[in-house]
Amino acid sequence: MKKIEELKTPYYMCDESLLRNNLKILNYVQQESGAKVILALKGFAMWSTFPLVKQYLKGCTSSGLHEALLAREEFAQDDKNLEVHTYSPAFKDEEIDEIAKISDHIVFNSPSQLFKYSKRVKEINPKISLSLRINPEQSSSPKDIYNPCGIYSRLGTTLANFDERVLEHIDGLNFHALCEQDVDALEDVLVAFEEKFSKYFKGMKYINFGGGHHITKKGYDVEKLINLIKNFRAKYGVDVYLEPGEAVGWQTGVLVSTVLDIVHNGMDIAILDTSAEAHMPDTLAMPYRAMVRGSGEAGEKKYRYRFGGNTCLAGDIMGDYSFDEPLQVGNKVIFEDQIHYTFVKNTTFNGIKLPSLVILREDKTLDVIKEFGYQDYRNRLS
Ligand SMILES: *Cc1c(COP(=O)(O)O)cnc(C)c1O
Repeated sequence: MKKIEELKTPYYMCDESLLRNNLKILNYVQQESGAKVILALKGFAMWSTFPLVKQYLKGCTSSGLHEALLAREEFAQDDKNLEVHTYSPAFKDEEIDEIAKISDHIVFNSPSQLFKYSKRVKEINPKISLSLRINPEQSSSPKDIYNPCGIYSRLGTTLANFDERVLEHIDGLNFHALCEQDVDALEDVLVAFEEKFSKYFKGMKYINFGGGHHITKKGYDVEKLINLIKNFRAKYGVDVYLEPGEAVGWQTGVLVSTVLDIVHNGMDIAILDTSAEAHMPDTLAMPYRAMVRGSGEAGEKKYRYRFGGNTCLAGDIMGDYSFDEPLQVGNKVIFEDQIHYTFVKNTTFNGIKLPSLVILREDKTLDVIKEFGYQDYRNRLS
């Protein structure tokens, strides 16, 4: 068994007891509201934790063939109570048959895709349930890059593009309109969604409310969510699905790195053995400043540093931080909340080594479940 000091940086470490806390909150929502909660693999796909996740969540939602395969192989397997849902902005001929075989739900993005593949997927899998993704054209997403209902969005079908002939093919409707948002934002989306589409709910078995619900964040009004879902189910007689990614992995672990050098150019700059660009991509895409354990805002404490990554990208910068004591080469720097949307998105840009994946088990043992090296860089190229 490894001790924490022996682990080679960089590594992401997921704390299973924190993950279980999140799953318990999501399970409470399921039990009290009657909704089914499934994991969006896009945001969290550490499949070594799935034996734990499966104790609470009812399946996975995937964004195409590869995630669907992972959902089937590592999550649902042949358990009839666990579901694999697959949505893609567009499916392709060479993948749709396999997707139909391993999925319980397929969610089409447009009537044209639905008409193209509906018959074919039902022939391959007669039990499959089909749905259409709707664009309710109502979102208060904090960032355009994460706003599925923004102007000219390709994601989902607007009321103007809705073709009533889809109704004979589908059992449900999906929307996904939120990003890291509270229940008031969901309430606003539901108003728009019901206003436009409730005339089509008759005969539907379910409505899928998508992801972006920040349910496990402190201060989220879980009771209000439960009431909203209960009322919706009673009003329309449908099942409700939620498919969070971020809320599952939210604050369940860290990215640990080491200070390799400290250089000076107008300020003190610490070069770390990790990278914002390659290992913490949302910090640049969102963008946001990741918290560092033991640090203050720039200027708050006595010793101030800019943290930069070990790549040649000038903008590979995590931000400015301050500390009570001067940093030394060899010190560990721990970035908080780096489990969701990190290792599902990371890259080998610049040939930089990918961080290892570590799980801190509930009995406090450490499992290094994956280490990466040169081959991972080489195998992506040719
Ligand atoms: C991204 C996404 C999710 C998960 O979103 P989170 O913000 O991680 O909860 C769920 N459903 C769809 C269709 C998505 O695109």
